[in-house]
Amino acid sequence: MSDVRNVIIIGSGPAGYTAAVYAARAELRPLVFEGSITAGGALMNTTDVENFPGFPDGIMGPDLMDNLRKQAERFGAELVPEDVTDVDLTKPVKEVTAGGETFLAHTVILATGSGYRELGVPGEKELSGRGTSWCATCDGFFFRDQDIAVAGGGDTAMEEALFLTRFAKSVTVIHRRDELRASRIMAERALANDKISFLWDTEVKEVLGTERVTGLKVFNNKTEETSTLDVTGLFVAIGHDPRVELFNKQIELDDEGYVRVDAPSTRTNRAGVFAAGDVVDHQYRQAITAAGTGCSAALDAERYLADMG
Ligand code: FAD
Repeated sequence: MSDVRNVIIIGSGPAGYTAAVYAARAELRPLVFEGSITAGGALMNTTDVENFPGFPDGIMGPDLMDNLRKQAERFGAELVPEDVTDVDLTKPVKEVTAGGETFLAHTVILATGSGYRELGVPGEKELSGRGTSWCATCDGFFFRDQDIAVAGGGDTAMEEALFLTRFAKSVTVIHRRDELRASRIMAERALANDKISFLWDTEVKEVLGTERVTGLKVFNNKTEETSTLDVTGLFVAIGHDPRVELFNKQIELDDEGYVRVDAPSTRTNRAGVFAAGDVVDHQYRQAITAAGTGCSAALDAERYLADMG
């Protein structure tokens, strides 16, 4: 076991690295577990980020994350490219296990982000990267002049569908209900777009194809008819799941399974444990909001440590 540290940060997206910058500048010498494969978080999977303030010409996602990483390192954050495999957040001194070693800290900042939700139908995973995608920004380009589908009915699905009209010949939105959950403005935009059509009351039952996606088996839950939709791509846009498996038995979650914080602070129900970014936020889910709450978490941890005396 190590000495007791001031702060351990779990996660290396905009929330984790921003918390690291603030905690490091406060001379708390944070230890940051970045994750083994996905260091840098969600923006490592994208290209241009055009809405992060301070970059008038935009910046590539991986470059932004590399800058944030360097900024945290410059002030003395200790960055470890390991997955945290176990935690005990229930005691005044928290335990965090990574790479087979257990580290101790007075405060922990949870910044583990969220992951894409899957449909869970045959063929979906098998054809991932070969026609099934969870990211229009990443993969839209590959579907130029093709007929493709988007599964989902919320804002994300409408955003993906609208974005994909730049490339695709047609986009069919498949939604299991007869009205959209998306905000009015997004729904109106999608409904008015000539390239987008809708399959209502419809569920994807199977992604068809061997080498690549060749179609979808779809089921109308009103008429109970099954049919085949000829598309070469499926974008799954049915939401996200916060990455809470590591601590969901120790930390209070909200009704949707995200970490509950005492907003506007980042305090969780456990003293000394703070949470920031998409693991908390199911409303905004932006790099800048994740960075903003990462900052708040570091300041909250700093105050907690000061109050400990
Ligand atoms: P994440 O970025 O998801 O980072 C979470 C981190 O936690 C990861 O590094 C992961 O490895 C780590 N982690 C998880 N579990 C563990 C563990 N057990 N041990 C160690 N580490 C762990 N937002 C914008 O504002 N503008 C955009 O243009 C934009 N484009 C996007 C494009 C795509 C394709 C995607 C997927 C998202 C985009 N977003 C964009 C949203 C933005 O990326 C997220 O809102 C933001 O990254 C959330 O930051 P976060 O730090 O909370 O989580």
